[in-house]
Amino acid sequence: MKILNYINGEFAEPISNEWIDCFEPATGKTYGRCPDSGAGDIDNAVNAANEAFLGWSNLSSADRAGFLNRIADGIEARSKEFAHSESIDTGKPLWLTSSVDIPRAIQNFRFFSAAATQFSSESHYTEGIGINYTLRRPLGAVACISPWNLPLYLFSWKIAPALAVGNCVVGKPSEITPLTAFLLSEISIEAGLPPGVLNIVHGKGSKSGESLINHAEIKAISFTGSTVVGKHIASTAAKTLQKTSLELGGKNPVVIFNDCDLETALEATLRSSFANQGQICLCGSRIYVQREIYDDFHQEFVNRTKKMSVGDPLESTSKLGALTSQAHLEKVLSYIQLARDEGGEILCGGNQVTPEGRCEDGWFVEPTVIEGLPIDCRTNQEEIFGPVVSIAPFDSETDALELANSTDYGLATVIWTANINRALSMAESIEAGIVWINGWMPRDLRTPFGGVKQSGVGREGGNEAMRFFTEPKNVFVQYK
Ligand code: NAP
Ligand code: MG
Repeated sequence: MKILNYINGEFAEPISNEWIDCFEPATGKTYGRCPDSGAGDIDNAVNAANEAFLGWSNLSSADRAGFLNRIADGIEARSKEFAHSESIDTGKPLWLTSSVDIPRAIQNFRFFSAAATQFSSESHYTEGIGINYTLRRPLGAVACISPWNLPLYLFSWKIAPALAVGNCVVGKPSEITPLTAFLLSEISIEAGLPPGVLNIVHGKGSKSGESLINHAEIKAISFTGSTVVGKHIASTAAKTLQKTSLELGGKNPVVIFNDCDLETALEATLRSSFANQGQICLCGSRIYVQREIYDDFHQEFVNRTKKMSVGDPLESTSKLGALTSQAHLEKVLSYIQLARDEGGEILCGGNQVTPEGRCEDGWFVEPTVIEGLPIDCRTNQEEIFGPVVSIAPFDSETDALELANSTDYGLATVIWTANINRALSMAESIEAGIVWINGWMPRDLRTPFGGVKQSGVGREGGNEAMRFFTEPKNVFVQYK
């Protein structure tokens, strides 16, 4: 399998003819290769985007919406192939890519297709003097850089709003999971998207990514990934005052009060802990349970965690698949060792898994629950991004709030309680961009999405994304 760049409406090999091996995490073997693109490839893509900008931005929003819908149709028509490819490339279960990743990517295009035709700007009447109206114009060529954990889901979450409001895009997916972005190039060609409107350049962050964020003609960077790289992008963009939207890491707390619906909280917390092997920025990795129900909850949680099957992502019985890269597997295992060194007790899991058969060389880890760690230890402060959670008791609402807010991150928080006053008051005081009360993961695409503190700057979703990808210009008309 040879993955190619998509530049100016055509497939292109990397100018340097340098390639990167692509791995199937479930087997640890390569399935193909993708371009190791460099500055020249990025330059071609940015030039193509600039050339296409005038035509694309001058289309009516209804015409742009039509293209986005045709892309959605194209993915939908090949959704089985997309779901299979995403599972092969990431190691996540096929049932998950079929039910979440690919349907959501389709929904992203459809949602922003509709948004294109409904986006409106403001006007402000200045009493007795005149009226202001705000124009919102697209920016030009913009960069969309996405991570490996939800490849097409997060890539399309950026591309769709950028295109909807009339920008042209240079996208760089993670080189660890390039496959569905490549299929998206095929779909874009089939949909008749004008050349240069969307360009997808594959390669390493340190090479193609660097060239992209340093390119003088890029007007904005929408980035989802780690906090370290996000900070680097912010400092690079500061040199030319490029706009940035940064969706970064998390260390999300799950706070469970003793008056909650225990069964619902248990099942949802299993998902919020281990869905996609814990490799979702919204996963809860620190579980705090009120002392009266701590023993019951944590015993049952551990029992159910032990029953979660880890194995071949293509088997419908596998609750967890493989971690997405060998480097990440080693990172997660090193954090489990660190937790032991920091005095944690591994209540279940803690080991690499070696399934029999075709997956014997895959990168699997048992779902792991750790108890007895101090709040300020590294295991409780740093993002692990794997199937590893810590669990601890708390006494009062004040304690819970202090624990929840005790890291540098602030992406998402889950609160489980039947007490509405407590839930709302905690939601107000929690340092996070997203709070779920008595649930985990329902997403309304109109809502602001993003984090505070070290979890990011800016918001995606609905109008927030449409506004990020446009520049407001206020026009004042004086009539007196
Ligand atoms: P990452 O290492 O920061 O990489 C993210 C993307 O940036 C990849 O495409 C990467 O390319 C690229 N990149 C790396 N260095 C770059 C540079 N110097 N210039 C330009 N681009 C560069 O993150 P990851 O390990 O892929 O993803 C996991 C992280 O994403 C976790 O921290 C997770 O919390 C975060 N995340 C956040 C959200 C959110 O919405 N807040 C959602 C999902 C994930 P290569 O992969 O090719 O190096
Ligand atoms: Mg892969």
